[in-house]
Amino acid sequence: MANSQAKVVSSILERHGYELGRYLGKGAYAIVWEAYFKKWKTNVAVKVLLKEKAETEFLTKFLPREIQVWKSLKHSNLISFYQSIETTNRVYIMLELAPGGEVMDRIRMRGPCDERLAGKWFEQLCQGMAYIHSRGVVHRDLKLENLLLDENENIKISDFGFCKVSATETGSVRSIQLSETYCGSYAYVPPEVLQGTPYNPFLSDVWSMGVILFTMVTGKLPFDDSNLRRLLKQMLRGPIFTNRHRAISPECKELILKILSHVTSRCSVPDLFSHHWMLSFLTERPAEILSGMDALYLPPSKLRQQRPSIVSWGMGRNKGRESAD
Ligand code: ATP
Ligand code: MG
Repeated sequence: MANSQAKVVSSILERHGYELGRYLGKGAYAIVWEAYFKKWKTNVAVKVLLKEKAETEFLTKFLPREIQVWKSLKHSNLISFYQSIETTNRVYIMLELAPGGEVMDRIRMRGPCDERLAGKWFEQLCQGMAYIHSRGVVHRDLKLENLLLDENENIKISDFGFCKVSATETGSVRSIQLSETYCGSYAYVPPEVLQGTPYNPFLSDVWSMGVILFTMVTGKLPFDDSNLRRLLKQMLRGPIFTNRHRAISPECKELILKILSHVTSRCSVPDLFSHHWMLSFLTERPAEILSGMDALYLPPSKLRQQRPSIVSWGMGRNKGRESAD
């Protein structure tokens, strides 16, 4: 960022009680900085979005949704949202700082994790996702770049730019809103999303969790996303474990295969908490959160057989960020 821009950012932050610190990174629409919040005597992350660089739909729809939903979520395995400030040219989002950086960078630098570390991280991812799903929210952009680490190497789920409330309850009727449009990264989305059929976004988050676990233990993504036709073929066939993966336990491989499977046989988040590989890393079964959650993970064919009021359909199709959904 040019010096003059840093000066503007610094003076706005100063006005709200923050001291601008080091540069942390850059995303599609934002630059992220560390800052010191004097009132709390703590360092935070500040995401600075330059409005003129963002598309109108992002500013009027996705960003307000991200802020509104993220604000309402509080869990130890999620990056906490603190505050947002809007000025004529920019939006500032103050977030919990993840000093350990991205899990993706860790794997790039150090290679695959041993199963103890993968188990700890995957269990924390499951705890965070169980909480998010229990609130009726889907993330829809789970990937190793969006899993950050705190100072004790605990997982913090971040980036709620594609999130959405997809399950609501009116009296005793729970309505699940299927999605129909593509969002997320090709390497992490399930086959039903690539195929463009209406999909259950809760089950699609689970698939992304499987891609994350595979990559943690092997150091490589399970499917090649350089050609979409080949990608779909590989996904439908399922991940392949070769001789190089012989050190990975059969229990861990079995769990990955159960997650990266067809939508009608894919695990639910409550299923993940009962799997024997997970049980060896489980710190706590969040029984209260998990109760009644099974209904969120029905495949579209089963949802359609239920009362008509239980499903409402997302509409429209757009590549990249969704427009209607
Ligand atoms: P996109 O917005 O396109 O998904 P992105 O995820 O890379 O891109 P950001 O989420 O804006 O973009 O993050 C930009 C950089 O800042 C990344 O390298 C990310 O690791 C870092 N970052 C984001 N949030 C935090 C945080 N709370 N603590 C520490 N670093 C962060
Ligand atoms: Mg990100």
